[in-house]
Amino acid sequence: MIQENLDAILNIIGDTPLIAVSKNRSMEELKELYNCGVRIMAENRVQELTRKHHELPDDIQWHMIGHLQRNKVKQIASFVEMIHSVDSLRLLKEIDKQAERCGRMLKVLLQVHIADEESKFGFDRNELIQLVKSGACSNFDHVSICGLMGMATFTDDEDQVKSEFKSLQELKEGLKPLMSDPEQFTELSIGMSQDCHIAVKCGSTMVRVGSRLFR
Ligand SMILES: *Cc1c(COP(=O)(O)O)cnc(C)c1O
Repeated sequence: MIQENLDAILNIIGDTPLIAVSKNRSMEELKELYNCGVRIMAENRVQELTRKHHELPDDIQWHMIGHLQRNKVKQIASFVEMIHSVDSLRLLKEIDKQAERCGRMLKVLLQVHIADEESKFGFDRNELIQLVKSGACSNFDHVSICGLMGMATFTDDEDQVKSEFKSLQELKEGLKPLMSDPEQFTELSIGMSQDCHIAVKCGSTMVRVGSRLFR
């Protein structure tokens, strides 16, 4: 079943890389996913991420996509491929520190709050522009800021989702020349199960799909 779901998703997203969101899924399901050729997986909790990284084959790239507490960065710094959910300067500092301890350069995305809902994590758009302009994001030797991540409002209104994704794409283009290394600021992590078909038309460079793989 997973193979059919995967084929259907690949059909929609084309060449856009798929980040398979493995949260809340059993080891059996994840092994099946692995056997279908999937090598990029993502979790939103540190404990699950660490456990699955230990139990599944070594050639899987693990992405962290959920809210990350500073005191947990050290548990994932040695192996995580990318952290999509950086939402504060303090977290960025901690990632830099832990990456240095591991002798690594860690790839991160800055999460931006684009949805209607009040409760979601992420930088506010203007707050992020100010932060980047201040130069505060340029002081890290062990962090590579690769782009932005966002989640659209959970709604059937496709025009709204599209305009939220477009605004994030524009923000990425606007921030790019302000970054200390514009060449590496290329990624736009948008699109989930219900809106990946919209995201790929709005500049997505990686979609994070979970439930649709397993239903
Ligand atoms: C769970 C989750 C996803 C995947 O959502 P689905 O609707 O299951 O595809 C993507 N991004 C984040 C940050 C998530 O927490």
